[in-house]
Amino acid sequence: GKRILIIGGVTGGASAAARIRRLDADASITIFERGEHVSFSNCSLPYYLSRTVEEADYLLVMTPEGFRDSYDIEVRTNSEVLAIDRESKKIRVKDKIAGEEYEEAYDELVLSPGAAPIRPRSIEGVFLPHVFTVRNVNDIVNLDQYVREKDRHNVAVIGGGFIGLEVAENLKESGKHVAVVEAADQVMAPFDYDMSQILHKELLDHGVELYLGDGVKAIAEDHVTLVSGRKIPADVVVLAIGVLPETSLAKDAGLELGVTGAIKVSPDFRTSDPHIYAVGDAIEVYNSLTRKPAKLPLAGPAQRQARTAADAICGKGGANKGVIGSCAVRIFGMNAAATGLNEKTAKQNGIPCDYVYTMAMDKVGLMPGSAPAHFKLVFEVPTGRILGAQSIGAGNVDKRIDVIATMIAMNGTLEDLKELELCYSPIFGTARDIVNQAALVALNVLHGVFRQVHVSDVRELVESGAYIVDVRTPEEFAEGHLKGAVNIPLGELRQRVSEIPEDCPVYLHCRTSQRSYNAIMALKGRGYENVYNISGSFLGISFY
Ligand code: FAD
Repeated sequence: GKRILIIGGVTGGASAAARIRRLDADASITIFERGEHVSFSNCSLPYYLSRTVEEADYLLVMTPEGFRDSYDIEVRTNSEVLAIDRESKKIRVKDKIAGEEYEEAYDELVLSPGAAPIRPRSIEGVFLPHVFTVRNVNDIVNLDQYVREKDRHNVAVIGGGFIGLEVAENLKESGKHVAVVEAADQVMAPFDYDMSQILHKELLDHGVELYLGDGVKAIAEDHVTLVSGRKIPADVVVLAIGVLPETSLAKDAGLELGVTGAIKVSPDFRTSDPHIYAVGDAIEVYNSLTRKPAKLPLAGPAQRQARTAADAICGKGGANKGVIGSCAVRIFGMNAAATGLNEKTAKQNGIPCDYVYTMAMDKVGLMPGSAPAHFKLVFEVPTGRILGAQSIGAGNVDKRIDVIATMIAMNGTLEDLKELELCYSPIFGTARDIVNQAALVALNVLHGVFRQVHVSDVRELVESGAYIVDVRTPEEFAEGHLKGAVNIPLGELRQRVSEIPEDCPVYLHCRTSQRSYNAIMALKGRGYENVYNISGSFLGISFY
């Protein structure tokens, strides 16, 4: 059979190996892994810090023995591939335990070396022993041991992406004092600024300190100094500012890299050498919404790419549909998920778009645990094609985002989403699901049934003395309202309509925009033309 060698034994590498074995009983398959472990759950690593994952060993999904016994796949751990000789179709391997080097010949080679955490030399002190990155089981065990030692109480997490936030959450849960430093003005780049405010509030409410719009300049033994000059006490520092594809092997072997600097691949994940395939965090992907090359270091795509590459190696062909970027993260009591383009990226890519922001309940309100789900749906104008969505709430917002991801993959429009027949029982959702509801509101906006202003414009409206009607109850109004807003509860609107001026724009809101939508339709029915809904309403405003 064919001699197939695989470099990297975790997500992409292990998936490719297992799939090749399923398709080809005769192939000789060997995985080379630089680290001590193969096939561990990278994505679960942070949960060891809080003992949500009780033992570090539980993070190991498969062992070399398991690969041998179940799949007849040979795994060599502590084995770093140093070079690829494409002429002679051989790789050079270093056995890190024996300290010896040797060569191994291949018919087909798969690269799944992943991406390495960035450790910028420009940050003074970045190599000090109390500065950690998180990529593998040993990293998390070392961090955990260091943190648990006495007096190591103050943790600074640098970077507000999902790895940084998961580490922050789990260290906070384990009783540490945690500060998150993020150079951008928000955490979690897949979310728009308005949605990220909900995440900021959740972090702050749980006692995580948040430093936004400020980078790290220097790290010292007991503190970090930010670019602004501010000093934060920190006896442990976790660097989570992003990852860079591991391309050195590919580059040294003369394989072509893409414009993003990651390894360039064909539709069946072949590199510029027909006998070398590459998958996972190390490759350049194609974003099917922006139609541009991109990097997307996530496990789902890595897993699918590995399967397609394995199919291609075994002569089954396979299609690369590109990526849209779907992700999820939990931050304390809030689940957050996003897919496709957000408003920011759609606009950056020159795609004409609009969005709606809804806040429907995730299940029937009478049911235990029902909670509002903040939902932002981004769509193309004028086609109504769905471009992306973000949702944050205490409930199963990931399910809703998965529905949108599916719609995007099928080129779905708002009309399709409105008509989508989803399962319903009050303990799971509502008869008109959050996603159906968002489509209805979006269609109203697309077709000009009502106009909206976005929550980000509210401050300016208030300051300019715009006429704002709050249609919530007097009790809700008394608990807090926009400065200068007039309270006309929905139930009194028909009697009090004469109070509302017809010669200037009128802005309406309630708590979630459900009542204000009804109020707008009532006003329109009475001849009012210049009425706007405040998208996001009071719940949105309160986070902004
Ligand atoms: P990896 O899984 O990183 O495997 C690459 C392996 O190759 C490494 O073990 C490396 O040691 C080895 N290697 C590299 N060079 C060589 C060489 N020269 N010789 C031998 N071996 C080599 N993704 C999600 O979708 N959802 C999540 O919730 C999520 N959470 C994450 C949490 C954490 C803490 C981390 C670190 C990642 C998370 N990810 C998540 C990302 C996900 O783990 C990666 O996208 C995925 O593992 C990429 O697979 P890969 O095979 O390309 O690389």
